[in-house]
Amino acid sequence: MGTIWLVIPCYNEQEVLPETAKQLKKIMQDLVKRGKIDSDSRIAFVNDGSKDATWSMIEELHEKDELYAGINLAHNRGHQNALYAGLMAAREYADAVISLDADLQDDVGAIEQFIDKFNEGKDIVYGVRSARDTDTWFKRGTAHAFYKLMKMMGADTLEDHADYRLMSRRALEALSEYGEVNLFLRGIVPTIGFETDVVYYQRHERFAGESKYPLKKMLAFAVEGITSFSIKPIRIITGLGVLLFSASILLLIYFFVVWLRGHTVAGWATIAISVWGIGGLQLLALGVIGEYIGKTYLEVKHRPRYCVERLLYRKGEDKEKGSKEEKEA
Ligand code: UDP
Ligand code: MG
Repeated sequence: MGTIWLVIPCYNEQEVLPETAKQLKKIMQDLVKRGKIDSDSRIAFVNDGSKDATWSMIEELHEKDELYAGINLAHNRGHQNALYAGLMAAREYADAVISLDADLQDDVGAIEQFIDKFNEGKDIVYGVRSARDTDTWFKRGTAHAFYKLMKMMGADTLEDHADYRLMSRRALEALSEYGEVNLFLRGIVPTIGFETDVVYYQRHERFAGESKYPLKKMLAFAVEGITSFSIKPIRIITGLGVLLFSASILLLIYFFVVWLRGHTVAGWATIAISVWGIGGLQLLALGVIGEYIGKTYLEVKHRPRYCVERLLYRKGEDKEKGSKEEKEA
C-alpha cells in the first residue's frame, strides 16, 4: 500500500481530458477500494501551456473532486519538461508516481501491474509495448531505426519503452539530482539504477484529438536523445581523422617511391600529399577539440556521480551498554 500519483502531461487535450479523467478515476477508486493504494492518491494533470480549454477543465475537475490535482506551466515547454515538472511536484506527496499520456494510448489496464511490482519492492517499473500493430509502418520503422541508432551511439535505452513508467520516491529524488536542462527522460532513468522491472502492455490508438508529435518534433526528439547521451559522434570524427592522417603517411611513402622512379608529373606528389595530410590533420584537430567540448558538455550537466541505494550502519549500542553495566557491577 502506498500513495500513488498518476502524472499526465497535457498539451491542447480538451478533446480527451473528460474521458481520460473519467476512466482513470474509475481505476483509482477501484484500487483504493481493494486496498492496493492509499486513499490520498491523486491523478495529476500537468498543463503544458495549452492554448485551448485544457487548464480550465483541470481546474474544474479539481474543484469537484480532490482526487484530481493540477499543475499549470506558464508556457509550453514540451512533453519531457511537462512530465518532469509533474514528477518533481508529485514526489513531495507520493510514494510512487506513474507517468502516462493524456490520450490513454498507454493501456490503463496495466496500472495495477505497475503498483504490484512497486509493492514487491521495485523502484522503477518500465512499461514496454508488446505490439506495435496500431502504428503505421512508417512510425514502426522509424522507431525501430531510432532505438538501433541510440544503442549504437551508446545511450542505454529500453526498446519500445516510452514514458509510461512507475518511479518510487527515492528514484525521483535521484532523478532530481540530474542537473541537465535538455531532458531525455527515457535515457536518463536507466542510468539511475535501483531494482527495476518491466510491465508489458498493448498500445492503443489515440481515441480523440491529434498527435502533438509530428515528424518534425519526433526528429528533434531523436537528435536530442543522441546528443544528450553520447559524445560518440565526436569520437567518430576523431577516428576518421586518425584514419585519414595514417592514410596520408602511407601515401607519402608511396608517392615518394613513385617520385624516385621518376614516373610523376612535376608537382603532383606535393599537391596530393598536402590534400590528404592537411585534410587528415584538420579532422584530427577537430576531433581533439571535440573531445574537450564533449568533456565540458558532460561536466556542465552536473549529473550525480553515483546514487547510494542503501547504507548499513549501526551504533555500537550493545557494547557500550555492556561496559557500563560491567562498571556499575
Ligand atoms: N504533450 C505535452 N507537451 C507538448 C506535446 C505533447 O505535454 O508540447 C503531451 C500530450 O498532451 C500527451 C503526451 O505529451 O499527453 C504525448 O503526446 P502525443 O500523444 O501527442 O504523442 P504521440 O503519442 O503521438 O507520440
Ligand atoms: Mg499519443
